[in-house]
Amino acid sequence: MSADTRDRCPRCGGSFHCGAQDPAPCPCGTIDLYADTLQLLRERYTTCLCLTCLREIAAMPLDAARADMKKPAPS
Ligand SMILES: [Zn+2]
Ligand SMILES: [Zn+2]
Repeated sequence: MSADTRDRCPRCGGSFHCGAQDPAPCPCGTIDLYADTLQLLRERYTTCLCLTCLREIAAMPLDAARADMKKPAPS
């Protein structure tokens, strides 16, 4: 029985694999995020985002990240 957990990015809807349940560190931990941005992410999303989204958000100023997270998730 596979314990593989396929996650969907809550921001872009794309599938990705979060390594939070894996023995290895999650790749999302390798993205440098400002503490404030990270807190926004935790408030807005219950799961990790895909690396593409994390990189996009990491590159945004805090105001832009905040505005971005108010957008509804794509269906
Ligand atoms: Zn994404
Ligand atoms: Zn993760």
